Amino acid sequence: MFEVYPDIFLIKEEGALGAAKPPENIYVIAGSNGIIYDAGYGTKKDIKHVFKELKEIEEYYKAQNKDFRLTRILPSHSHPDHFSGLNRLRDSLGLKTILTKKMADVIRDKESFYKSFDADDFEDYLRIRNKVKRKIRNFFRLLGSKLFYQHMYGVSFLDDPDEIIEENSDILINGETWKIFPSPGHCKDHISLYNEQKGILFSGDNVLRSITTWLGPPESNINDYITSIEQFKKLPNLKLILTAHGSPIENPHERLDEILKHRKEREQQVLNIIHKHSERGISPKGIIKTIYANESRFLHTVARGWVVLTLKKLENNNQIKRQVTKNKILFFPV
Ligand SMILES: [Zn+2]
Repeated sequence: MFEVYPDIFLIKEEGALGAAKPPENIYVIAGSNGIIYDAGYGTKKDIKHVFKELKEIEEYYKAQNKDFRLTRILPSHSHPDHFSGLNRLRDSLGLKTILTKKMADVIRDKESFYKSFDADDFEDYLRIRNKVKRKIRNFFRLLGSKLFYQHMYGVSFLDDPDEIIEENSDILINGETWKIFPSPGHCKDHISLYNEQKGILFSGDNVLRSITTWLGPPESNINDYITSIEQFKKLPNLKLILTAHGSPIENPHERLDEILKHRKEREQQVLNIIHKHSERGISPKGIIKTIYANESRFLHTVARGWVVLTLKKLENNNQIKRQVTKNKILFFPV
């Protein structure tokens, strides 16, 4: 454990398999009525690690004769690296689980959860596919993700949260008021936590220190994402961002500006590529290959997310047009 700020502790969960299971941050706002922000992974090994770290924090408090009692746990959003540990942590530590209505709707059971990341419509936007092949592929893909999340993430669902909280509300933690507010973009039900007096923002997946937040269908929305980042910029007294992956950000405004600039540049890059191919058009695959010329196939697959969202955005803004022929999808400038 690591005290990132007086009475705020970071517990790091290990990752595995590169980007498939990223290292995850769980935060403990410690005190007499403390809270855990983000539940992390739920495998036995991951939970054991969290317990061990919590024990250390408890002993550190005991040694100082200070109160240490955790009462609640609140995830930042309904992605499995953030909620899989909820059940086990609740049961073993006797915590109350707090969710927003939107999160509760996603993580209440297997069906709602897997439905929440069905991106079939978006696949159609980029690729012409044989219906039978698609069905077979989707079947195996779903089976694969079920097995993967079960074994690697220890995912478990929760249909009886102890408290449903409004997306825009105040929460009292150790006698201090923290603001919970919606910050959609990366996904629809993302919330952030802010304490103005301390200037501390828990940004979840929205702001990361050195990597770009994943954006992709069906959950993400680029316009919402930009609005959320702009909203962070307006937080009075913002001094420190505590992220869900990676280390804390001590220069929040600089990082937020970088993120806004990066999104703008990415959009311009896609537009430029399409303009370069104004005569014959360019396929989505062609666009991705141009942007990530020397990168792995895995990265190409990951990048499809933001590329499709950007293409849709440009098309909605009437800056590009999409042309579908019998076996090809091509993009042209307007
Ligand atoms: Zn996420």
